[in-house]
Amino acid sequence: MNRTDRSVDVLIVGAGPAGLALATRLARAGAGRVEVLEREPDAGGMPRHLHHGGFGRPPRPWLRGPEYARGSVRAALAAGAALRTGVTATGWGGPLALETTGPAGLERIAARAVVLATGARERPRSARLVPGSRPQGVLTTGELLQSVHRYGLPVGRRAVVVGAEPVARHAVATLRRAGTEVVAMVTEQPRATAVPGIPLLTATTVGELRGRGRLTGVAVRHRDGRSGVLACDTVVFTGDWI
Ligand SMILES: Cc1cc2nc3c(=O)[nH]c(=O)nc-3n(C[C@H](O)[C@H](O)[C@H](O)COP(=O)(O)OP(=O)(O)OC[C@H]3O[C@@H](n4cnc5c(N)ncnc54)[C@H](O)[C@@H]3O)c2cc1C
Repeated sequence: MNRTDRSVDVLIVGAGPAGLALATRLARAGAGRVEVLEREPDAGGMPRHLHHGGFGRPPRPWLRGPEYARGSVRAALAAGAALRTGVTATGWGGPLALETTGPAGLERIAARAVVLATGARERPRSARLVPGSRPQGVLTTGELLQSVHRYGLPVGRRAVVVGAEPVARHAVATLRRAGTEVVAMVTEQPRATAVPGIPLLTATTVGELRGRGRLTGVAVRHRDGRSGVLACDTVVFTGDWI
């Protein structure tokens, strides 16, 4: 397949808050052609899927994620940055060049500066090395939010949430909104703040996922040696950022 070669002044990978804020500042400062690549069909990054308030900077009123994302996109465009969505940076094409794939085909884009603003990701089941089968119903919070808010997909009926960071509370709230019962929150931490109405299992690890086709349960083990299986059709691995 043919590849197009071209060059820009600044190439930013990722049109989340970080990439867009940088693009806005650099374009305003006259850094030349500032181009942002985003693999998703829409720019804005993770906040596009976060429908609670809490984005922005005081004293401005807090915004909901999608509103904040739209504002960031508008600011970058108004400053003169170029946003190219549906374009994925797949690898390095030189010390200051990236190979990309997107609607325009394969490209190698050289730049005076390349910035990777590709965000953080929750550690998924695979990276946590949780053994067991590979059933449906195994998500991160990010995947849960996208399923519910972006695609309107049904979630399961009974969920276990792994983790107790603030992001785990977002997972619980989203599951509840989707009509899913949260049967337990499980954390390896010895102490954590419980969410009212949900059993919190501290000092507990998820040992194994069970079920063929769809998840049927997660095996858990407490640090003191007690173990058991939580019956559920959904498990959400939250936080533990990479
Ligand atoms: C559940 C949850 C709740 C949160 N609540 C809040 C809150 O209330 N307030 C708050 O301020 N923050 C909140 N955050 C944190 C906030 O979402 C992040 O701090 C912010 O999104 C980080 O911005 P970023 O630009 O670094 O990364 P991201 O928003 O993740 O953006 C990175 C972008 O890079 C793109 N990308 C990655 N790889 C490539 C590639 N190879 N090629 C092209 N594009 C690529 C991705 O598609 C993505 O759009 C929350 C996060 C989560 C998960």
